[in-house]
Amino acid sequence: MTAQDAALVALKQYYGYDSFRPGQQGIVEALLAGRDVLGVMPTGAGKSVCYQIPAALLPGVTLVISPLISLMRDQVDALNDIGLPAAFVNTTQDMDEQSMVLAQAAAGQIKLLYVAPERLETARFRDFAARTPISLIAVDEAHCVSQWGQDFRSSYLGIGEFIAGLPNRPPIGAFTATATERVRRDIVELLGLRNPAVTVTGFDRPNLYFDVVKLETKYKAAWVASYIAEHKDESGIIYCATRKNTEALAATLNDMGHTAVAYHGGMAADVRGKAQRDFITDKVPVVVATNAFGMGIDKSDVRFVIHYNMPESIEAYYQEAGRAGRDGEPSRCTLLWNESDIVTRRRLLDGDYENERMTSEQQEIVRQSKRRLLDGMIGYCRTTDCLHRYMTRYFGQELAAPGADAANSGDDKCGACSNCESTFATTDVTQVARAISRCVHDVNQRVGSGKIVKILRGSQAQDLAWLDPEQLPTFGMLKEVNTALIRDVLNQMATDGYLSIAEGRLPIVQFGGRATETVAPDFHYEIKKVERKSTARVASRGAYGGG
Ligand code: ADP
Ligand code: ZN
Repeated sequence: MTAQDAALVALKQYYGYDSFRPGQQGIVEALLAGRDVLGVMPTGAGKSVCYQIPAALLPGVTLVISPLISLMRDQVDALNDIGLPAAFVNTTQDMDEQSMVLAQAAAGQIKLLYVAPERLETARFRDFAARTPISLIAVDEAHCVSQWGQDFRSSYLGIGEFIAGLPNRPPIGAFTATATERVRRDIVELLGLRNPAVTVTGFDRPNLYFDVVKLETKYKAAWVASYIAEHKDESGIIYCATRKNTEALAATLNDMGHTAVAYHGGMAADVRGKAQRDFITDKVPVVVATNAFGMGIDKSDVRFVIHYNMPESIEAYYQEAGRAGRDGEPSRCTLLWNESDIVTRRRLLDGDYENERMTSEQQEIVRQSKRRLLDGMIGYCRTTDCLHRYMTRYFGQELAAPGADAANSGDDKCGACSNCESTFATTDVTQVARAISRCVHDVNQRVGSGKIVKILRGSQAQDLAWLDPEQLPTFGMLKEVNTALIRDVLNQMATDGYLSIAEGRLPIVQFGGRATETVAPDFHYEIKKVERKSTARVASRGAYGGG
């Protein structure tokens, strides 16, 4: 029997499934052939099968390194139920129990052994690993090894060394749901993967319609109310950034005659539990929640998810918005945002770590990584590119050109996002960009964006006096240009790397890595603005011609 057939038989025998999902088969075969693998798949795509089937088929024990001790028991029980002998060693067991499990594993009675990364550092475990034939090592949540991801764990840094110290190095399978290019490079490097087969699958959700709406805060509640009014029979989640917001918005909606409940971590457990039950059983169609809502909530027919504020990262947005349309039916994910959301997020980032027990150097590392995540999110708000493509590209997956028809007609619109259905007007803003850049130079990169705009507009405002603005060459240079446009260009320049908005109590505009390009003679800069936005309500199914 070929390895391919053996894998299929095992899939049927242990799990009762007839076929592999996208990506699984390639990973299983690569591991069985002795190759390292990096599998990047969204939660629920079926990563476990990718290492459990090789574990079943390979002769020795498979070591599964997993960060969450609390989930190990469930995983191990499930494996034993389907006939795959599995066990864990962790700190919930006493020494005798641990010894017993290790003895069983050494005797070949266990196919999968789950451990937390901290365990690998103990002498006892190293001794065990040195004398036991290990066929495969699976590293779950592999992104935890990277400081560029969301859940860095220093204990993951020891995994690479552990692997390197094994007398017979088995193939390594690293798995994660969230891996940007940078995180992926870290995983390969820090775990010491050798020429790994990299598989990235399944990040696109063609049944979701992505919609980005730039809206001042004061109009947001009315926008949400009218959306709900037009989608009366649908279940939906509205995510807000703060507990206070969830309660205020739920109250406003109820005042307007829409049934909605608030949900956040600060509510009494029974009240929260009731809100959750009422939503799941369709007693209440709409829940207004913080990001505390969603974990472990299984409702497949959520038809819309609206974000009232911009989340902190694409990872967070993808996870929350992705709660829509689990049943595969057309559903809509709308992100409401404005410039002050960005300012708020940036400010939160600075305050967030101040009270934690970290050195200031550590705090800075975390902040920098969070800033990058935030930049990805801001880019999503501002892009005029297809939102499906932006999102999947962020996760390292290049989408195939949308449907064959589209390829023939030269049309690259996905049909399931607001950018593809909008017309953008392009304005040449080369001179505006140049003036902004000069002005940042004039003030020695010392002031915020508001003041830059004022100087360029030739404002007589009092708060500029200390700069003696009338002496600056760029004072009044953009007198004829509308303030909102100058702001938009400045923000876009920050997103594009010509400027950088330094964090601090007051955000200061400084030069970005590409700043010198703006003085080059052939510098050309454009801004796109939505001219006409489609009123299409929901996605057509299979916007990419399948799935
Ligand atoms: P992940 O670890 O990627 O979050 P899991 O491994 O927990 O995902 O799998 C999610 C669900 O999909 C599980 O219920 C699993 O049994 C199921 N599943 C995995 N592979 C297949 C398959 N080939 N066919 C059908 N269901 C599958
Ligand atoms: Zn699109």
